[in-house]
Amino acid sequence: MTDNTINNGAKVEPLRKARPCPECGKPSARDHYPFCSDRCRTLDLSRWLNGAYAIPVADDESKADFPDEQ
Ligand SMILES: [Zn+2]
Repeated sequence: MTDNTINNGAKVEPLRKARPCPECGKPSARDHYPFCSDRCRTLDLSRWLNGAYAIPVADDESKADFPDEQ
């Protein structure tokens, strides 16, 4: 009975719900999924690369190599 309720009002969607572009929030285009355009894809990629270089070095890990036993 639950199935009937769902099927009654629901339109058939050929694709999953379009997600907004993570870069600018516009509806994503299939060609550039999940982005809306190649420009936003490039922007996101460059941001990613910049972020990778900006990962801070954890001081605690270097300390682990030199225990305070002496
Ligand atoms: Zn976009």
